[in-house]
Amino acid sequence: MKSYDLIIIGGGQAGLSVAYFLRRSGLDYLILDDQKESGGAWLHYWDSLKLFSPTDYSSLSGWQMPDTDHEYPLRDEFIAYLKAYEARYEFPVQRNTKVVQVTKQTDLFKMETNQGTLYAKTVVSATGTAKNPYLPHYPNQKAYQGVQLHTADYRNADAFRDQKVMVIGGGNSGAQILAEVSKVADTTWVTLDPPRFLPEDIDGRYLFHQANASFFDETTDSFNRRVSLSDIVLVESVVDGIERDVYHAVRPFASFYKDGVVWDNGKKEAFDAVIWCTGFKPNLKHLKTLDVVEDHRIGTKGTRSLKEPRLWLVGYGYWTGFASGTIYGVGKTARDTAREIKAYFKK
Ligand code: FAD
Repeated sequence: MKSYDLIIIGGGQAGLSVAYFLRRSGLDYLILDDQKESGGAWLHYWDSLKLFSPTDYSSLSGWQMPDTDHEYPLRDEFIAYLKAYEARYEFPVQRNTKVVQVTKQTDLFKMETNQGTLYAKTVVSATGTAKNPYLPHYPNQKAYQGVQLHTADYRNADAFRDQKVMVIGGGNSGAQILAEVSKVADTTWVTLDPPRFLPEDIDGRYLFHQANASFFDETTDSFNRRVSLSDIVLVESVVDGIERDVYHAVRPFASFYKDGVVWDNGKKEAFDAVIWCTGFKPNLKHLKTLDVVEDHRIGTKGTRSLKEPRLWLVGYGYWTGFASGTIYGVGKTARDTAREIKAYFKK
């Protein structure tokens, strides 16, 4: 029975980043990814998506993303870069392989996949969040007969032409999708709090530059400064939306009814469709059997599981390291992870 030193589950930017720091380690490792091509979750985001991170903050360790003639890369440009990154370093990626569950068998991890069973001494899970869209609960939601769609399934605005559409969510996804849909439909924007647009003089580069750990308060899990990584970046579509005056956010409604929503004052309003731009939770289903997942997270020190010290979690969000769910931020946590894995095998 062959067993690897390490299996990395997930071949998106987080998995590849760990592999980058293992290049000269001599470890026998494999990356398993359930998609048919490289690109991670980016393959599934909507067609017109512009990254909110400028080109020089959209690069992985070791190799800068080639310059584009615009400041914020397009989704397809970033996918092409990820593909080239993977080819450049010849990472061992086995595609079309979904890890269904991980269990422990003596001192090995056993990975059951749609391509058979694999074993490894250590595991890095880097499965992202895209496969676990988050939808908040509103009363009577099931009664609503219109279309409901999450960002995860949104492609473009074609299906919404001449309709009345509610967009829910005050982050970059909500703002970009609202800009696009409002060109062809009558839109209403619902956000929990008044949305925060980055000031005009602060672009995505400055945001990332400012977004370093010294501004992050780990005790409150939030930023203690005037900009945050979830503020809306003024990419072209958002600037266009501002110029067309489409951003009038209102606070949430009380409940759904069959044709739409009921506002707090009892007034009913019909909508053809609701687009949920309400984010994602970590995709940790395959680790449930290890009994380490609690409330969409795993207890870690850095990226290392506290309960399973031969398991590391990379990407996902702040709980695995500052900004580790972003392209710019994942490098540092990937480097530390690789360092710990190498040290484990040196013992
Ligand atoms: P993923 O890209 O999701 O990669 C995980 C891989 O693992 C995928 O290929 C997945 O199919 C695979 N996988 C999952 N489960 C299994 C399994 N059980 N077995 C095998 N394979 C599995 N960040 C920025 O820095 N700049 C931006 O501009 C930016 N824009 C964003 C826009 C949107 C709409 C969203 C949602 C996020 C954005 N992010 C941005 C955040 C982040 O960079 C992306 O979410 C990124 O895709 C995270 O990379 P990842 O490698 O952690 O996860």
